[in-house]
Amino acid sequence: MDKIALVGKNIDELKDIVSELGMPAFTAKQISEWLYKKRVFSLDEMTNISAKNRALLAAKYDVGRSLPVQAVESTDGTKKYLFRTEGGHFIESVYIPDEDRATLCVSSQVGCKMGCMFCMTGKQSFTAQLTTTEILNQIMSIPEAETLTNLVFMGMGEPFDNTLAMLRSLEILTADYGYGWSPRRITVSSIGLIPGMKVFLERSNCHLAISLHSPFSEERLKLMPIEKSFPIAKVLDEIRKHDFSHQRRVSFEYILFDGVNDSMRHAVELVKLLRGIDCRVNLIRFHAIPGIDLKSSTPEKMTFFRDYLTSNGVTSTIRRSRGEDIFAACGMLSTLEKEKEEA
Ligand code: SF4
Repeated sequence: MDKIALVGKNIDELKDIVSELGMPAFTAKQISEWLYKKRVFSLDEMTNISAKNRALLAAKYDVGRSLPVQAVESTDGTKKYLFRTEGGHFIESVYIPDEDRATLCVSSQVGCKMGCMFCMTGKQSFTAQLTTTEILNQIMSIPEAETLTNLVFMGMGEPFDNTLAMLRSLEILTADYGYGWSPRRITVSSIGLIPGMKVFLERSNCHLAISLHSPFSEERLKLMPIEKSFPIAKVLDEIRKHDFSHQRRVSFEYILFDGVNDSMRHAVELVKLLRGIDCRVNLIRFHAIPGIDLKSSTPEKMTFFRDYLTSNGVTSTIRRSRGEDIFAACGMLSTLEKEKEEA
């Protein structure tokens, strides 16, 4: 029988488990400390739990951690890790060290259903949802786990297409019984799936990033099919209902494509669209992917775009590309070849 992973269980679920096994209630707290604070790999390491109780646990449960099966390093120090999931699929996570920060770009699904034109994960299409165990394992099991300062859910998949597993992960990452991280260290990036986004905005205080890419609905639709079901104007209506002027931030990701969304007309409309929202726009250089006839805007155009937005009241920065040489940069993650090899 496959064992059930303990990583990914919140404190209430751990309490249910220990009660079902006839253990004292405080054992749940001890287990959560071993899982999320001391980050052990095996039940045997939980030395303040009696051998008898560890054996009882081991009959049905294990910790559920697994190390990456492959790592590649970019010339800029970025590292891409490949993990095998419980279901035998593959996902990638990207470790990005940068002066006093170390960020992990985390995946939420194997592949993705959303089909954004510029994205390798979208080209791969959808294979499976990640469990909370598999989401957290990426964060816990890279060699640099103890050095991480920030998390961005910008890896493979659309987080709000896997909202429950995402919310459970965020709960464990920010709860006192779990990682105890400040929500300010975590950003969840979405293309704007409104139902999941609404639940996230109500239940979590982590930062939100929205992939915008064009202020014109009909042009955005050509890049991102989601515009049909959840137009960006409706996404912004939802965002306007929340306060982003204090601890929680909202940002917008905007990949600049040459001759597609980088004109004065786009800049003017973008400023209009974001009026009244306390936000930042991150401009991203497009990273060429096979079979897609899009090019990155020139550095001059990107600078013009940034300066126009910023001087018109929308703080904007050009995000430095990382890991392009190892296909780890924005929009480049894919495990399609690995999935085919194993099929
Ligand atoms: Fe999916 Fe995000 Fe890629 Fe769109 S950009 S296809 S939502 S992974």
